[in-house]
Amino acid sequence: MRALLLNKVDDEFSVEITDVSEDQLPEADTLVAVEYSTINYKDGLAITDSSPIVRSWPMVPGVDFAGTVLSSESENFGVGDRVVLNGWDVGEKHWGGLAERARVDAGWLTSIPEEFSTYQAAAIGTAGYTAMLCVLALEDHGITPDSGSILVTGAAGGVGSVAVAVLSRLGYEVIASSGRVEEEGEYLTSLGASELIHRSELAEPSSRPLAKARWAGAIDVAGSHTLANVLAATAPRGCVAACGLAQGMDLETSVAPLILRGVTLAGIDSVHEVAERRDQAWKRLATDLDVNMLDAITTEVGLDAVPQVAADIVSGKVRGRVVVDVAG
Ligand code: NDP
Repeated sequence: MRALLLNKVDDEFSVEITDVSEDQLPEADTLVAVEYSTINYKDGLAITDSSPIVRSWPMVPGVDFAGTVLSSESENFGVGDRVVLNGWDVGEKHWGGLAERARVDAGWLTSIPEEFSTYQAAAIGTAGYTAMLCVLALEDHGITPDSGSILVTGAAGGVGSVAVAVLSRLGYEVIASSGRVEEEGEYLTSLGASELIHRSELAEPSSRPLAKARWAGAIDVAGSHTLANVLAATAPRGCVAACGLAQGMDLETSVAPLILRGVTLAGIDSVHEVAERRDQAWKRLATDLDVNMLDAITTEVGLDAVPQVAADIVSGKVRGRVVVDVAG
């Protein structure tokens, strides 16, 4: 079977598309015929060796995939079941989705809701499922469309695009922050954003612990100064769901938004999220994500294009989601 294989020998990093045999797959209880994997930001970092994502070599990257079960020792899955996998350190410590087959623990698999094809489940992928976890966090903290606008940072990226589409379908006024307002403004408006701001407005360090309240909540993929500025401009009793580090891992801020405005900072970890919450997120995606929007968000490539797309996503050039046809 074809696979994208990363290796590091004597500090020499390599990426190749090669044939591997099923015997080389890691030990686990369930064998899946992978139909589609995707390129998330983390995959970009792994495939370009820009960050220490991969913890064992050689490695098939791909933090997510969608496909059908070929065999399973688990009573929870049978042959032919359609499944999606997001996270669980797959593509980091355990061989991942960028191969025609994957052997994984059944406990890492989620059934694909009947509303979605395997292609659509992959298109949503880890980025879309994470966007839904962020929406659930806002809801858990009492944010409703009546609370006020919701800011989405990195709006033209994978998490951001799905977040904009879901929030707007749920009736929220969405403010989309992007570094590509000129190029992608029309795209973001078509997904449902009602206001666009340039990400440079939020990118610089600020010494002001509080700013004028501009949004009731936010989904932030950037971290760093962006997240600090987002928190400072969140309205009283608001909530910010933080999932990413596209600007940086650092966070220099003050407790002022938390203790003077009762703002909640909700952290999102999709990788180790419990099964119940994963099922909840996927069920909500089935009702709250318009599949026509999903088509507009998604492009498809074959395995050969993956190294280039990986470089593009790291440099912020990818729009929406990229699905990989692993046999293509
Ligand atoms: P994408 O690359 O698709 O999207 C990231 C977007 O962030 C870019 O498209 C760009 O959007 C914006 N961006 C890029 N550079 C900067 C910058 N310097 N400052 C502010 N914004 C920037 O990645 P994903 O959507 O796959 O992932 C987004 C983030 O979320 C990543 O950091 C990823 O690691 C994280 N993540 C975390 C998860 C978790 O479980 N916590 C799960 C999934 C993702 P634009 O051009 O519109 O500004």
